[in-house]
Parts: sequence; C-alpha cells; structure tokens
Amino acid sequence: MRAVLLKKFKELPELTDLELDPSLGSNEVLLEVEMSGLCYRDLLTIDGYFPRTKLPIILGHEIAGKVLAVGEDVVDFKPGDRVASLTYIPCGKCKYCKSGNENLCKQRLTFGEEINGSFAQMVKVHERSLVKVPDNVTPEGAAIASCVTGMVLRAFRHVAKVKQDESVLITGAGGGVGIHAVQVAKALGCKVIAATSSEEKFKYIMEAGADEVLLSDDKMVEKVKRLTGDDGVDVVLEAVGQPTFEKSLRCLAWGGRMVVVGNVTASSVEVPLGLIILKANSIAGTIAATKKDLEDALKLTADGKVRPVVTVYPLEKIYDAMEKMRRKESVGRLLLKP
Ligand SMILES: [Zn+2]
Ligand SMILES: [Zn+2]
Repeated sequence: MRAVLLKKFKELPELTDLELDPSLGSNEVLLEVEMSGLCYRDLLTIDGYFPRTKLPIILGHEIAGKVLAVGEDVVDFKPGDRVASLTYIPCGKCKYCKSGNENLCKQRLTFGEEINGSFAQMVKVHERSLVKVPDNVTPEGAAIASCVTGMVLRAFRHVAKVKQDESVLITGAGGGVGIHAVQVAKALGCKVIAATSSEEKFKYIMEAGADEVLLSDDKMVEKVKRLTGDDGVDVVLEAVGQPTFEKSLRCLAWGGRMVVVGNVTASSVEVPLGLIILKANSIAGTIAATKKDLEDALKLTADGKVRPVVTVYPLEKIYDAMEKMRRKESVGRLLLKP
C-alpha cells in the first residue's frame, strides 16, 4: 500500500509502497483510510519534538475510514462501517481511562508516533479508539472530529468551562484548529472575537461565524479591550502559542481563563506572574479528545453546527500540503486522501 513513512527526524518523510501484515489482534480493526488530517503536530514529530516516536513510522493521527476487517473479539464494528478514530489508543485500565479522561492516559499509544498512522491506504486501529460516524457526516467532517472539533470542544467545555454569552478570543483563527474553534464557540453560545495574522483570511473567518475578526498585531490588546467595553475576554483559546501568548494573556478579563492548545514555535514564554495574580487569571493546557468528545463533535457536525473548512490533497501531494502548512498559507484544515 502507499504510505508516508518517517525514517529519520528532521528529514522529509518518504512516500513509499509497503506491505501491510493482514493479521489482526483480537480487538484490532483494519480500516481503509478515507481521509486523514495533516496536523501541526506532524511537522513537530518530523522535527523530533516527540521523544516517544518509534522510527520508522507511518505518520498521521487524524483518521476517518471504513472498516475492512475486524479481530475475533470485536463486536461493535463490522466491515463497511464508517468510523472516526481517537488520535491514540488508550490503555483502558488506568485511573484516567476509568474516569473518562482517557486523553490523559500515560500509556496511550499515539498514531503516527508510537504506532503506524493513517497517511496510508490502510491503518490498523484498536476498537477502543473508534466511534461510528453518522450518515450525514462526510469523511472530511470525520477526519477533523478528533484532533480538531473534539479537542476544541474539550478545551471550551471541560477546561475553560465556558458559559453561554461569555466572550471568547481565538488566536490562529484562520488555521485548522482556529476556524473550527470559532464554530464550536458559537455553537456553545459565546461571543467570538477571532485573531489572525493574515487579513486575507478575514472573509473565511467571518463566514465561519466570528462576531469580530482582527489582526494579531501590536494593536490586538487595545482592539480586544475596545470590543469588550474595556473588560477583556472571559476565555482565550490560544492556538498559536508563544508568538501570541503574552498579548492573549493581556486580553483576559479579571477571572479570565486561557487554554493553550498549540505552540507553533515549540519554544517557551515568560509569564508575568503579577498580572495573573492581580487579575486572578488561570492558564491551562489540554491535549486531544476523549471518546465522549469525539461523539459530541460528530453530533455537532451532523447537526450542521460545525462545517468542515478544509482543502483536500491526494496523499501523493503531501509535500505541497506540508509546505502550505509551514507557510501558514492555508485556511482551515489540510486533509490527505489516499
Ligand atoms: Zn492533530
Ligand atoms: Zn489509560
């Protein structure tokens, strides 16, 4: 099968033909990959930022597919079912897995890093990672449901605990995470201010439902203050990380919460502690989605509250897609179709 194989860190992955061993473990499911999301994490994996990565590895952790075959103990899935997968296989036994916080499972195995991923024609997954996709959700919607829609839903609902009518600032709002975060925040009843580094993306971000769009430039804090009656926003979803972090922090209202979900430079920031103490702000991180988040993300998509904003590339064009992502030229998620 065609697959994108990472052999060495800091080198381009190889587009190659591989033999797939057709045998399945008792709880394994073989999928025909329908669509797979390209994530900034893939670029960081290639650059060697995730030490648990086992080389050589087939990249790709944002998986939508169709069941081809199932292991002998699999009862919930059968050939022909359309499924979306978590970005990892949870252990199913630890305190996090047992309390519905399997995104924090320390023994989890991440696709495209510790186990072969979905930049290929087929992928083997564990039934524990899978959710059925409603009929009216496209492979595009299913491919972004875990690492994008579900992850963002968790950030807002579970970590920031947003309430209806609260104001939310989303950075990187033209990107794959940001533009869907705008839609999720609107679905949760929030007022959405979107920040982006590119004026060319304004139109798309407004179409996604943002109430206000602004540039994440030197005037960002001032503009956000003006739009919120000088109060600042209740919640920031920080999808860019280090480049916008301090400005975002200064946009928070008293008692405001920031959730960091991405860091494109993978570098550190200085935190003005006095500011967060005086304003009683909190800063949290979050990672991935749970099965419940994934199910709810698919529901939001089925209900038309989240519409995938994506560009689809054939798998062979992965290098073009990666280049687009590095240059921040794309709007929404880049998807690969085998
Ligand atoms: Zn991802
Ligand atoms: Zn676990």
